[in-house]
Amino acid sequence: MAEKFKAPRGTFDVLPQAMARRELLLRTAAEVFARAGYDWTATPAFEGTDLFERGVGKSTDIVRKEMFTFEDKGGRSLTLRPEGTAPICRAYVENGMHKLAQPVKLAYAGPFFRHERPQAGRYRQFHQLGAEAIGSDSPLADAEVITLLSDLVEELGVPGVELRLSSLGSLDARREYLGELKSHLHAREDELSDDVRERIELNPLRAFDSDHEGTKAVMADAPQLLDHLDTADSEHFTEVRELLTASSVEYTIDPTLVRGLDYYTRTIFSFVCDRLGAQSEIGGGGRYDGLIAQLGGPHTPAIGWAAGVERILLALDEEVVAPGRDLYIAVEGDAERAKAVALAAELRRAGISVEVDLGGRSIKGQMKQADRTNAARTLIFEAGGTARLRDMGTREQQPVEPADVLELIRPA
Ligand code: AMP
Repeated sequence: MAEKFKAPRGTFDVLPQAMARRELLLRTAAEVFARAGYDWTATPAFEGTDLFERGVGKSTDIVRKEMFTFEDKGGRSLTLRPEGTAPICRAYVENGMHKLAQPVKLAYAGPFFRHERPQAGRYRQFHQLGAEAIGSDSPLADAEVITLLSDLVEELGVPGVELRLSSLGSLDARREYLGELKSHLHAREDELSDDVRERIELNPLRAFDSDHEGTKAVMADAPQLLDHLDTADSEHFTEVRELLTASSVEYTIDPTLVRGLDYYTRTIFSFVCDRLGAQSEIGGGGRYDGLIAQLGGPHTPAIGWAAGVERILLALDEEVVAPGRDLYIAVEGDAERAKAVALAAELRRAGISVEVDLGGRSIKGQMKQADRTNAARTLIFEAGGTARLRDMGTREQQPVEPADVLELIRPA
């Protein structure tokens, strides 16, 4: 027997039932974005590999281990996008968006790719939606962007969500602290995981993220970045916190918060959900004031977040019933089938959602199908050339002329 095909490891199909929940999520996000003036954008699903090496950072897990990288026929190294911020910044620079009124406020949604070990809530192709405010260093932008995700989570009704907040300070100010942290790590090197030990010089902050017991013990008394912020960074962070409080967004300060990408500066945040297992983060982000300059653009401060669509859906864990059709057309006998198909086409063009049997079902089978499609009404072409309209809720029926159906059922 021929081998059965399967979706590649870490990927999944979204079947119609599950699609209804995704659509609801995206519609809600679209409303939240539109109300705050964030415009949809889209960038390619793959980019030059060096964009991520330079943008995300060579020391990160993403670049070291997780990228789907391939060579195209012209010998160029390309990578399926593992995240959205570096591509958006590339697009900002390439399209001269610094000439627009600042900040430029963008939203995106789509598939992303990371070669991770699959588990619940972690896939190799997953979907993110995100928002970026590019071109402002004001704490006002931080508060607006964070509030956006907080409102989305609230509006969707995701239970058990906590917002964790911290500041990494600016790159210059962080340098001195990193020196201290490295000394702390070197002093207790033999207690650390191999991964953390190898990256002490390259990316010491990642040690805070480790779930290795020995590393956790070392980090419990590590110096904390929040105690080492310079005056400007510290004032910026205080303002962000005050603005969030004024906007009724609750948060907890988490001095051990770090993120897996190199580009973050100042404010970082993470929305975690206690209904999820190990992969508990539904979304997060932060400020990346140095990234656009690093990608060859003008110095441009910016802040944004990305949220995982699958994680939010897992946390919501509720059925969404797809809206039913306005009308189902059933036919007794075969004589009227062509008429039924023609009427369905006409009604659809007039904006009515209609289904008609394509499978040669008996009238009984068609009535069952009308129930399954959750149709509000069924028009039945009767064998004798007459027709009747049935309200599927009340089960009341009335004789009708098929030509009058549009008027009868057109929504007010
Ligand atoms: P990041 O781009 O790593 O900051 O991730 C932002 C959000 O994307 C996370 O909070 C998750 O909700 C989601 N996410 C990241 N990686 C994956 C993955 N491999 N599978 C599913 N969701 C993911």
